[in-house]
Amino acid sequence: MRTRLDHLVASALQQGSAVPAFTCYDFTTALAVVAAAEESGRGAILLVAPKTAATPNGLRLVAALRGLADAAGVPIAVQLDHATDPQVIADAVSAGADSVLVDGSSLPYEDNIALVRGVRAAFAAQGRADVVIEAELGGLAGDEDRAFGTDVADEPAGLTDSAQVEDFVARTGAQLLAVAVGNVHGKYKGEPRLRWDVLQDIAVRTRIPLVLHGASGIPAEELVKAAAMNVGKVNFNTELRTGVLAVLEEQTTAHRADGENLQALLGRWDATARTFAATALATLSR
Ligand SMILES: [Zn+2]
Repeated sequence: MRTRLDHLVASALQQGSAVPAFTCYDFTTALAVVAAAEESGRGAILLVAPKTAATPNGLRLVAALRGLADAAGVPIAVQLDHATDPQVIADAVSAGADSVLVDGSSLPYEDNIALVRGVRAAFAAQGRADVVIEAELGGLAGDEDRAFGTDVADEPAGLTDSAQVEDFVARTGAQLLAVAVGNVHGKYKGEPRLRWDVLQDIAVRTRIPLVLHGASGIPAEELVKAAAMNVGKVNFNTELRTGVLAVLEEQTTAHRADGENLQALLGRWDATARTFAATALATLSR
């Protein structure tokens, strides 16, 4: 069923849990995520990467995810992830996304604020003040769509500056805040070292829910602590891809021999994505 992303996250936080968000490059993965959410009786978020949304077929995927979310038996939100291009943002919202991460984190501080405010003003002018805006403060290391090992110690300067949080949230009007606290996109080189001290410092400075990107590779016993620090949304991408690629590598030959059985191979794809999503849903609601 359709839900506002901020309402979904707020109600999870009230119950001491966080909502997992999963990057969907394709419809098979999205079907698996929604099925896992329905089986668990909990809501989830479908993320669309900006490179996906920047193509005509990507916008059709957004529209398809919108239909899937609306028909689901649990609250499902569709979010355009890490977007900077106002045209891609406008197109994705027109296609059915109900939330956008307006990501100016690589820009100078004032430009980051101006980007978020500009998108917000454009939505207001179109009568779409219902579009939920996540903003990002601090630079996340790594690549969102391609996983390479990133050593957090290589880029300590990217941490969110907690002293900027109050001003940033007030001036952007963001409804959720993505933070950089030692988390990275892609794979962690060595042990992930989340800076709980920085997260705590951020959490006391704003009431809006925080978002942890790059959760793939962070141990479950660490993730369960997140909701206590007002982290209401946790983004997963790499581990889903790892599971799907492993299944394809292991199973393609046998399914080719089995009369080009693509249907059964997609069933294996569904099973691995569904198991991963179910685990993430269970972990974040512990
Ligand atoms: Zn991200």
